[in-house]
Amino acid sequence: MQLSKQVWLIPGENPGQGYLCGTNVYVVGSGKSRVMIDACTKNVLKFLANIKEFCQTQQCTIDRILITHGHHDHYAGAFDIVELLIQNGFSTNPSVFKFVDEKLETDRNRLMEHPEIESYLFNTRDGDVFTVINAPGETPITLTCVETPGHIDDHLCFLLQQEGEDNMLFTGDHIIGADSSYFTNYPEYLRSLDKVRDLTIKLDIKKYFVAHSYTLTKDDIMLDGLAKVEELIASRKEKDYR
Ligand SMILES: [Zn+2]
Repeated sequence: MQLSKQVWLIPGENPGQGYLCGTNVYVVGSGKSRVMIDACTKNVLKFLANIKEFCQTQQCTIDRILITHGHHDHYAGAFDIVELLIQNGFSTNPSVFKFVDEKLETDRNRLMEHPEIESYLFNTRDGDVFTVINAPGETPITLTCVETPGHIDDHLCFLLQQEGEDNMLFTGDHIIGADSSYFTNYPEYLRSLDKVRDLTIKLDIKKYFVAHSYTLTKDDIMLDGLAKVEELIASRKEKDYR
């Protein structure tokens, strides 16, 4: 499903408790080589078939996969996708980028559970910029990593910027299409909410693309940025006050 000129949704096809409709996986760019955001979980055949169909109908490759964080519904499917891209000739050398910190328990677990991904995995961190070349005549996109710990220590959001277009943010599980997200570190989570609010104001970010939503309608997937983050901050303050 096309959400904007340069952003497509590939549903993760993994609905369930805690996942709402499943993982919303995004593909960015209108050129030949595109960037995927998040990888869903392992062995979801319908999701993998959707990626294959997407690359065929769009006549594109996916060479880079950016991971918002190490929870299995965002990360564990990365190797399946890498294999699919190589086996179908969509990409010869796909790369997976994630904020890797081997001190983190999640990363140690993830690497032990999925050692096969290691040769495709590269570290990325706050401030790193990925450039996406669009179709001829269109300006390129940049995706910038924004460190947002709290939901989990290794969480990144990705800021989308393109000259002449609205700024957008892929919020992963930091901000989802529900009242609140689950968090492992509450003070960090609150600091990251403030960080995203300040960035939203500073850069006039219009929309958030969330990783989980109640439905797969555009209104549930693409939220009004400032209204959403302010609502979350206000509801946290109210709960803390009680
Ligand atoms: Zn998560």
